[in-house]
Formats: sequence, structure tokens, C-alpha cells
Amino acid sequence: MNDRLTCILCPAGCELEVFDQGDRLEVRGNECDKGIGFAESEIRHPLRNLATSVPLQGTGARMVSVRLSGPVPRERIFPVLEAIAGLRPEAPVRRGQVLIPDVLGTGVDVIATRTLE
Ligand code: SF4
Repeated sequence: MNDRLTCILCPAGCELEVFDQGDRLEVRGNECDKGIGFAESEIRHPLRNLATSVPLQGTGARMVSVRLSGPVPRERIFPVLEAIAGLRPEAPVRRGQVLIPDVLGTGVDVIATRTLE
């Protein structure tokens, strides 16, 4: 066995055992075929999403919640988080507003999830 994963695609939370056979993965413990796709994605091309909040410019205390428009490769999460950390959007901010388009060339936008006047 090469890896153990918990499939998070449904509440069953199957514990997957993944054996790397080189050109393919052998997956055990999945109760449905979605678990195979989940394991392949996690092993071959793991993606992550994130949600956080940043201060509104000039306020210090009022926070704007933000998230990514889609997942990015797992190894890009911390650089993306650093790019978001320097963000200080000006009011007003609208829910769904793109605050950083194509963050770090990932093809994913940072968007506001809350409206602040
Ligand atoms: S393998 Fe299928 S049944 Fe099991 S957690 Fe994943 S989606 Fe749900």
C-alpha cells in the first residue's frame, strides 16, 4: 500500500487504500466508483480551495471574507495565501466582486463573499 486517504465526496467517508501500480492506481475500500476518481486526483493532481478574510482598507478592524473561484494545485496554496494576505480592498465591496483576477497565474480569481458598504 502506498497511501491511505479518506474520501470526502460524500458523508460515508470511505477509508481508501491506494496502491501505485505505475501506470495506474489500484484503489480499495471505496464503496462506489467516485472514490477511484477521488484517489487519482489526490495522488496525481491534488487541488485545494481556501477561504479567509482580509481587512478593509483604512479600517483595520472591518474584515471582508474572500474565497477562491475554484481550486488550485495544492503546492500553490501558500503562495496564493501570501498574495491574499497583502490585499486591502476599498469599500464598497460587493459579494462576488473579483478582488484579484487570475491570482498568481493560476486561472483562479479571489472573490469577495460578503458585501461591505
Ligand atoms: S467512495 Fe463513494 S461512497 Fe465512499 S465516500 Fe467516496 S463517494 Fe462516498
